[in-house]
Amino acid sequence: CGIVGYVGSQQAAPLLLEGLARLEHRGYDSAGVGVVGPSGLRVAKRAGRVRDLSEGLPKRFAGKLGIGHTRWATHGPANDVNAHPHTEAGGLAGSVAVVHNGIVDNAAALRQRLTDAGVELVSDTDTEVFAHLIARSTADTLEGKVVEAVGSVEGTYGLAVVHADFPDRIVVARNGSPLIVGVGEKEMFVASDLAAIVRHTTTVAHLEDGELATVTAGGFTTFRQDLSRSATTATKVDVDP
Ligand code: GLU
Repeated sequence: CGIVGYVGSQQAAPLLLEGLARLEHRGYDSAGVGVVGPSGLRVAKRAGRVRDLSEGLPKRFAGKLGIGHTRWATHGPANDVNAHPHTEAGGLAGSVAVVHNGIVDNAAALRQRLTDAGVELVSDTDTEVFAHLIARSTADTLEGKVVEAVGSVEGTYGLAVVHADFPDRIVVARNGSPLIVGVGEKEMFVASDLAAIVRHTTTVAHLEDGELATVTAGGFTTFRQDLSRSATTATKVDVDP
């Protein structure tokens, strides 16, 4: 339902929670954040309100890069396990964390393929397959891994991915579900909706369907599913005060 992401010089968790709170009007049943910091990837998620998530968050949830999500369940009930982010190790552990808006149409086939390969799926969601497909990819770069994963997926997605082995970047992808990149001063944002980040920046790039982006503290680059660079740029949007 709602996606927000941050990479820069500030602590990510408070900014992610604030962004999620600004998406609450869209409706949701669960919320979560994944932060990459000195101790690797940390995930916190639960059914219920963003405020419940904030209050339950460990004090030392340090890291300057992360993603957050408000979920509106399509596959599987609203519970803590089905909340996003999803990781390849299940629950709150792992190296890869993904948040996803939309619906994976071939989720049943992909879940079966992963299960046959020995993967243990912990949630009922269609989203969890992204985490496993990315973790199992043999591509050298996070971009390559995400491209490979979305290549197996039929359906709609706004997707944001972080990986403990690539701690400087968020990779995002769009197909049929909005995704924007927000440009700040030596910090960058991603979101499904300008409302999540408008307090921080109104200079945004709107990804097109089939497009992906690498977002680091210093800027962003957009590319297509064949990894060729695309030309989407950020522009200043007018916002009613
Ligand atoms: N299909 C995913 C799920 O059920 C994402 C739903 C959403 O867009 O929030 O978890």
